[in-house]
Amino acid sequence: MPAWSGVRQFTVVDRRNEAANIDSFFLKPVDGGEVQGYLPGQYLRFRVKPASEPKPGIATYSLSDRPGLDHYRITIKRLPGGRFSGHFHEAVHAGTVLDVAAPNGVFFLDAAETAPVVLISAGVGLTPLVSMRNALTAAGTGRECWFLHSARSAAEHAFRGERPEGVETRVFYSNPGVGDTGFDVRGRLTPAAAEAVLPAGLYESAIFYICGPVEFLCDHYQALRARGVSKERARYEFFGTTVALD
Ligand SMILES: Cc1cc2nc3c(=O)[nH]c(=O)nc-3n(C[C@H](O)[C@H](O)[C@H](O)COP(=O)(O)OP(=O)(O)OC[C@H]3O[C@@H](n4cnc5c(N)ncnc54)[C@H](O)[C@@H]3O)c2cc1C
Repeated sequence: MPAWSGVRQFTVVDRRNEAANIDSFFLKPVDGGEVQGYLPGQYLRFRVKPASEPKPGIATYSLSDRPGLDHYRITIKRLPGGRFSGHFHEAVHAGTVLDVAAPNGVFFLDAAETAPVVLISAGVGLTPLVSMRNALTAAGTGRECWFLHSARSAAEHAFRGERPEGVETRVFYSNPGVGDTGFDVRGRLTPAAAEAVLPAGLYESAIFYICGPVEFLCDHYQALRARGVSKERARYEFFGTTVALD
């Protein structure tokens, strides 16, 4: 059941730079009503009209923080030549009113499950996984959680420095800048690199959530399947045209 039907208006109450070309937008309902809950990992859809476009279109962005706050947060990477991401970065500021459809999506953390969770992301693909991670830490259930994230360098790493207690965080920089700190592994987060840091037993028991560029996603999904992880335990989301992996 969606939290509301059709479109509801939200005001951008704040905007924050998180990394190079990556900004967060904080939203509150114009009507001052409740900020409805959602399942960590779900996304919002926006009806927006970039100046470059003849008519409005629908843009999809994951909720990037946990449910239960007095606002929604989305975090957008500006793509070169990107219509919607360019529109948000150019034309959406504190005070902008946006048309928003209710939270939706089937890629979410299920609080009824108790198995360990392994979150694997690259680039801006971390957004739904940060929501899941923050929901888990806020719940304080002690559920085992691993957070593996890959960025090129500190400059491109959103939410850098966030290492919540109780979460096994491993940050990979493929091309660290001079003086970059706060990362654990120099190199790409390949399936082999993940295997080198994860306890082997997790492949028998954990639920894996993967989000990132399509090649990254396919590599990790296929490696998990080859290690005997069931489809049910290898969950993924791609930020583009739907991909269906077997
Ligand atoms: C479930 C879901 C959740 C998402 N969550 C997030 C999120 O949390 N954060 C986030 O940043 N994004 C997220 N996305 C992605 C987001 O919805 C947009 O797809 C993204 O912002 C790019 O849209 P755009 O309009 O800026 O780019 P587009 O205009 O669609 O272009 C994308 C890229 O393709 C290039 N391109 C476009 N047209 C052509 C062409 N004809 N020939 C060659 N190249 C072309 C552009 O230059 C650009 O680099 C999510 C997507 C989904 C489906």
